[in-house]
Amino acid sequence: MIPKEIVELIVDTARIDEVVVDFVTLKKRGSNMIGLCPFHNEKTPSFNVNPSRNIYKCFGCGKGGDSVSFIMEHEQASYPESLRYLAGKYNIEVEEEEQTPERTAEDLIRESLFSATAYGQKYFTELLLDSDEGKSIGLSYFRERDISDHSINKFQLGYSHEGWNNFTDAATESGYKIEYLEKTGLTIVKDNKRYDRFRGRVMFPIHGVSGKVIGFGARTLKSDPKIPKYLNSPESEIYHKSKVLYGIYFAKKTMIQKDECYLVEGYTDVISLHQSGIENVVASSGTALTIDQIRLISRYTTNVTVLYDGDPAGIKASLRGIDLILEQGLNVRVIAFPEGEDPDSFARKNSNTEIQQYLHDNATNFIRFKTSLLLEDAQNDPIAKTKLIREIMHTIALVPDIIARSSYTKECATLMQIDEQVLIQELNKIIRKKFRKESVVRNDDLPKDELIITKQEVIEEDFIHLHEENIIRLLLNYGEDEIVTQGLIDDPTIELTREVKSVIVNELVEDGIYPGNPTYRKIFEEFETLTKNNLPYNDQKFIRHEDSEIRRVATDLLTQRYTLSENWQDKGVSITTEKDILQHAVFGSIHTLKIGRIELMLKENREKIKIAEQNLDDTSLEEHLIQHQRLEEIKSELAVYRGIVILK
Ligand SMILES: [Zn+2]
Repeated sequence: MIPKEIVELIVDTARIDEVVVDFVTLKKRGSNMIGLCPFHNEKTPSFNVNPSRNIYKCFGCGKGGDSVSFIMEHEQASYPESLRYLAGKYNIEVEEEEQTPERTAEDLIRESLFSATAYGQKYFTELLLDSDEGKSIGLSYFRERDISDHSINKFQLGYSHEGWNNFTDAATESGYKIEYLEKTGLTIVKDNKRYDRFRGRVMFPIHGVSGKVIGFGARTLKSDPKIPKYLNSPESEIYHKSKVLYGIYFAKKTMIQKDECYLVEGYTDVISLHQSGIENVVASSGTALTIDQIRLISRYTTNVTVLYDGDPAGIKASLRGIDLILEQGLNVRVIAFPEGEDPDSFARKNSNTEIQQYLHDNATNFIRFKTSLLLEDAQNDPIAKTKLIREIMHTIALVPDIIARSSYTKECATLMQIDEQVLIQELNKIIRKKFRKESVVRNDDLPKDELIITKQEVIEEDFIHLHEENIIRLLLNYGEDEIVTQGLIDDPTIELTREVKSVIVNELVEDGIYPGNPTYRKIFEEFETLTKNNLPYNDQKFIRHEDSEIRRVATDLLTQRYTLSENWQDKGVSITTEKDILQHAVFGSIHTLKIGRIELMLKENREKIKIAEQNLDDTSLEEHLIQHQRLEEIKSELAVYRGIVILK
C-alpha cells in the first residue's frame, strides 16, 4: 500500500498537461489545450485539458478526470499502478507501507484462488492437446466447430476427464490445497469424498479484465438430457458471475478503438467472431444481462450492438435486458440473424468480409427494431396498438438524454404513422410519473390537462435539474470569487463584497432550499459546511473527492464547453464573459431556482390545505395556511427583485 502522504504528493505534483502530452498531441486554445481524444475515434478535437484546474474532459465521449484517472483509463491500469507510474515520471520515491495482517490474509486467499484456477486452466488445456481422451473427444469437437488452433491457444480452451477425481488428485499432488480447490469450485467435497466438478466437458476459461482466469464455463458433449449442457464455476472471492463478461479481456482494446461493443450470447459466438476478425465482442454467458455488466462495457464504449439469433421468441424475452442498457445511458443497436442462424454459425458459413458487411448493413437502432417487431403482432388491432405505443414510450422514457429521446420519438411516430404530438404527450406522462416517484419535492398537483408539452419546450423536470446544475456549476467555478452585494444591509449605498459561495449558500439555506438531485445536494452541503466554518474552497476538493459520482459531476461542471479564443481579444473585440457579469449570473440563478421551488412548494401546500379541509383538521389547516402566507410573501419579494409586480 502507498502511504496517504505520498499519494497526495503524487497527485499534487502531476500536471495534467504534462501527463497527457506523453500520449496526445495538444494545441493551445485560450487558457486550455485541446487534442484528439485517445478514448474514442474522432477527426476534430474535442478532448479538453485544463491546466489551471488540473483536469481533462472529452466532449465527445464524456470521459474526464485528473492525472491518475487519465493513466488508469489510458493504460487500463489499476489505481496503485497508475500512482506508481506517475511517481516514476516525477521521480517521487514510493515506499510501500507494511500491509495490515487482515489485508495480507485476504490477499493471500485471493492469490491462492488465482493460482488454483491458473493451474486448472493449464491442466485442462494439456489434457485437450496431449491426451488420447482429450484429442478424440474434446479436440474433435472444437475441430467440428471450426475453432482454430490459434483460438484454442488464445482463449486457453481445454477438456476435463470423464473420471471422478483425476483433476483433484493431480492438483493436490502438485501441492494445491483442497481448501482453495473447493473455494474456486473446481473440486466438490461431500461426505469426506472429493469429486471433480467438471467431468467429460470442453472447458472455456473465463478471464477477468486483467487477463487472469477467474472461473470456467464447461459444455458437456453427451446428449443425455439429465446432464446440464452448460456448467459454470460457482461464485467465489474472485468470480462474480454478474460482474464479468466472457471475452472482455480480449475485447477491451478494440472496444475502445472502434468505440463499439458487440454483445452475443455464447462462448463460441465470441470465439467465431474473433476468428472472423471481429474482436470487440463479449458474451453475458448464461446469465441475463446485469447492470454491473453494462457498467463494465461503459468503461470502454457507450455503443452496444446486440447480436441475436433469428428467433423472435428469444428476442422478445431479451427486450428487458436492452431496456437496462438504455437506462444506463448507452446507445443500443440490434442485429438479427437470418432464421435458424446464430452469430457462430453465420460467422462459420461466411467470409470475414461478408460477415463484417452484414454487421455493417443490418444494425438497426433499438427503438426501430422494437417498434417493427411488436408492430407485426398489432398491425390491425387498435387496442393492441395502443398498448404497443405505451410500451415503446416506456422504453424511450428510459433514455436519459433529452435529445436522443426526442429523435427516438420522432422516428417512432413515422414508423407507426401516428401524430408525433400524441407520442410526446404519452412520453411526458410517463416521465412525470417517474419523476413524482423519484423526486424529493413531490409535485402531484399539476393540472392534468396541461400535460401536453410542445416539442420545443423543455420538460419541467429537466428544467429544474438544469437550474440546480447551474447553481452547482457557479459554486464549483466561482465559489471563492467575490461579488458586490448591494442592498443586503440597511444602507443601500454601502457596497459589500462577499464570496459567491456564501451568497448562494446563505440565500438558499435561509429559505430551506436544497437541490433535489442527491449528488448536487451532497456538493451543496459541503459548501454549506465550508461557509459555516469560514473555510476557503478549492476546486481540487471535489475533483479528488472520494465519491466517484461527485468527482464526475465536478469534472464535468468545471470544464467550460466553449473556450473563447484569445485571438478575439487580440483583434480588439471585447467579449463579455460570465466572470464579468458574475453578480448578475449568481443572483439570476438563485432567484430562478427559488421561484421554481416556491411554486412547487405552494402547489404541494395547496394539496395539504385541501386534505386538511376535507378532514376538518383545524390545527393542521391553520399550520398550512400560515405556510401558504409565508410562501406567498417570499414569492412576491422574489418577483419584486425581478421587476415583476404581483397584483393581488
Ligand atoms: Zn473522447
